[in-house]
Amino acid sequence: MARIQFNKVNKRYANGFHAVKDLNLEIRDKEFLVLLGPSGCGKSTTLNMIAGLEEVSDGELLFDDRIVNDAPPHKRDVAMVFQSYALYPHKSVYENIGFGLRMRRMDKAEIDRRVRDAATRLEITHLLDSRPGNLSGGQRQRVALGRAMVREPAVFLMDEPLSNLDAALRISMRAEIKELHRTMQTTFVFVTHDQAEALTLADRIVVMRDGVVQQIGTPDDIYERPRNTFVASFLGSPPINYLDGQIDTVDGGSLFRRGDLSLRLPPHVAERLAGQGGRHVTLGIRAEDVDERHQAGADNLLRARVKSVLPIGSDQYLGVHFDKQELYFRVGKDLAHKPGETVDLAVDLSRLHVFDPETSRSLI
Ligand code: ATP
Repeated sequence: MARIQFNKVNKRYANGFHAVKDLNLEIRDKEFLVLLGPSGCGKSTTLNMIAGLEEVSDGELLFDDRIVNDAPPHKRDVAMVFQSYALYPHKSVYENIGFGLRMRRMDKAEIDRRVRDAATRLEITHLLDSRPGNLSGGQRQRVALGRAMVREPAVFLMDEPLSNLDAALRISMRAEIKELHRTMQTTFVFVTHDQAEALTLADRIVVMRDGVVQQIGTPDDIYERPRNTFVASFLGSPPINYLDGQIDTVDGGSLFRRGDLSLRLPPHVAERLAGQGGRHVTLGIRAEDVDERHQAGADNLLRARVKSVLPIGSDQYLGVHFDKQELYFRVGKDLAHKPGETVDLAVDLSRLHVFDPETSRSLI
């Protein structure tokens, strides 16, 4: 079992900086939990508190039912993989992987068994006699993973372990880390600022900003039902578009209006906003939620002027001007428009997001 619980945990550094604020979070046994947010939001600090590398200033940190606020790192049954790999340059891969076990005076035969087993799983058996300096970034990362694996920890902690790898290798290592989690049946806590990495790896994502949790949920929850504009903007590429406007209640339904634009809100949204005609709202339209297969006179048309067309292989990014604002969409590559032309985009109304312009919170 490895359940981790934060009860109203705060972290203030010696200089008084309040890096983590009133954190309440339960990390479930065998879960793959990703801490996601921009640089400086407190995700590494949170991970380091689990590792015992940073003290909890106040609140309780529990492993299963045991309070571990004061437990030293080696009594926590956790293993950490760092972005920098932190390998010993003068030791072989074999020695690097087995180092922690040797320090614990584990039997040599058992060390050998574990090192070879990890090397086989990570497909680096042929590198066991090499030195880290002769390895590629991806191979070094595997060695760092191997060193954590042989400890057979109850919890794996990973701080941006893939950020030094090139784009293609990152994607294949993501798949391997996911597979590792599946076979090891252990709790993983993974820190990243990369939304795509979080979406592909996580059972649940914790989005943080300025030391405060913004939302906790499955990748689907976080992407489809962002609780505020910060979460909505942090996930999605190109980022979600916002339009400020007003709710207009008509014949039992609701419209979003801004100038000439009028979009019919879907029933689940209209229901939430019932009786709120005239209310100012911020509408969110994700980049992928428009296309050109529209019908004349439909109540989902956004007419805009094309500003830029950027092919990205399978799709293209379409930049448009609408009412003095720039919006960016992702559309099919067969859509042929030139800058300066007018385009009618059909908005997928069922996928609209609506936020309160004052609080930035979702209204649906
Ligand atoms: P990054 O991806 O850049 O590491 P992060 O979300 O992991 O970002 P943290 O490393 O947890 O952020 O840092 C959170 C905040 O705490 C930052 O503003 C950072 O400058 C501050 N901080 C981190 N360590 C210390 C320290 N030892 N003393 C004072 N402030 C610190």
